[in-house]
Amino acid sequence: MSGIHDLDFTDEQEQLRRLVRDFATTGISRAYIQEVERDRRFPIELWDAMTEIGLHGLAIAPEYGGVGGSIVDEVIVTEELSKVLGGLTILWSLNTQAALILQAHGTAGQKAELLPEMAAGRCRVGLSITEPGGGTDVLGALETKAAPVEGGFIVNGSKMFSTMVADAHYMILLTRLKNSSGPRKTNGVTVFLLPTSSPGISFERIDTMGHESIGTYSVHYDDVFLPESSVLGEVGNGWPTLTGTLNQERIIAAAMCVGAIAGVIDQTVKYVKERQVFGRPLGQLQAVQHHIANMEISRQASRLLTYHCARLADCGVPPMLESAVAKCYASEAISMVADLGIQVLGGAGYTRDYDAERFWRDTRILRIGPIANEMIRNYVAESLGLPRSF
Ligand SMILES: Cc1cc2nc3c(=O)[nH]c(=O)nc-3n(C[C@H](O)[C@H](O)[C@H](O)COP(=O)(O)OP(=O)(O)OC[C@H]3O[C@@H](n4cnc5c(N)ncnc54)[C@H](O)[C@@H]3O)c2cc1C
Repeated sequence: MSGIHDLDFTDEQEQLRRLVRDFATTGISRAYIQEVERDRRFPIELWDAMTEIGLHGLAIAPEYGGVGGSIVDEVIVTEELSKVLGGLTILWSLNTQAALILQAHGTAGQKAELLPEMAAGRCRVGLSITEPGGGTDVLGALETKAAPVEGGFIVNGSKMFSTMVADAHYMILLTRLKNSSGPRKTNGVTVFLLPTSSPGISFERIDTMGHESIGTYSVHYDDVFLPESSVLGEVGNGWPTLTGTLNQERIIAAAMCVGAIAGVIDQTVKYVKERQVFGRPLGQLQAVQHHIANMEISRQASRLLTYHCARLADCGVPPMLESAVAKCYASEAISMVADLGIQVLGGAGYTRDYDAERFWRDTRILRIGPIANEMIRNYVAESLGLPRSF
């Protein structure tokens, strides 16, 4: 039986896929990823190599030095990178998402100053949204306050899980105006583009089960002065600054899972063809074949959902529920697939020599964030006419 037919991509998209596939398969060694993981250091060489092939400018408009790629283009890049990087693709996707937020809501000055730097790989931007009080009810837990003062704002508060802050030049920071009142959780919300070199910022690394090289941090903002020019979007009405890219964020999270699933399958198939048990290849056993077939079934379903959402978004149809469903489905699929990948390889799968265990650890967060799958199920139930449960 031949392989399945692929989706209908343009010649340029096929070219993009080949470029990123070649880059990922020949330019990134497992030994390198293991080294940066072991040393818990930011993979700057990988970042720079991505710069060289123009990846950091993919979603940025040509007038700012990027190529203005579509969401399908982003999914293609994410899928191919994740076959090798797994969840470490966040290195690229986090910054790309920040660029999209800036592109949509930045002032002309902010965009002219930062987007060309981001496209050229000279500027990294992370997101500082989640607080110690909780990330699911992000606005309910929002305690970081921005107090208006002459010429700007003084920010005080703490954040949790601000990925990459130690190696980022800017963070997109969610705050609420001090003394703002009103019945709605969105009242007073103000978003800033904050230089990480600002006096008053300190952070500590959080010990996590994955993302060893990129790292996530708790951050404290103590009397940090931010000029008016650093507001991203509207003062006091900043929630839309962050919500406009939510669908895209979920689609890219799903695409990361799709690529990681493919990576696990490739490695598993290769292994079971070579590994001998009871005088025959491991891959001849039906129990093993069914595990691998289940992996492939999950990959195809996750992939179709993901590209469907990307195409809807590119056509201007916001795939609110669809992208949440794709993220939920694909993130659970990669957990199952990576776990099976470990199982099929036996003891070898439990070592750091094969990707399944790292892919499992690094993608496990995608069932929790950027939106937890329980919340997605709440929304799916509501879409079927059931009452809101929270
Ligand atoms: C490795 C890592 C990287 C991260 N990177 C970033 C980052 O760069 N920037 C950033 O701002 N944040 C980041 N986060 C935070 C992430 O977005 C949050 O962890 C996520 O939003 C969940 O919030 P929480 O951890 O506070 O869980 P909680 O909100 O406390 O939820 C705990 C559990 O309760 C469930 N739950 C909550 N409410 C409901 C409900 N109504 N119905 C059913 N179940 C519910 C949730 O689904 C979850 O399972 C990161 C987190 C990790 C672990």
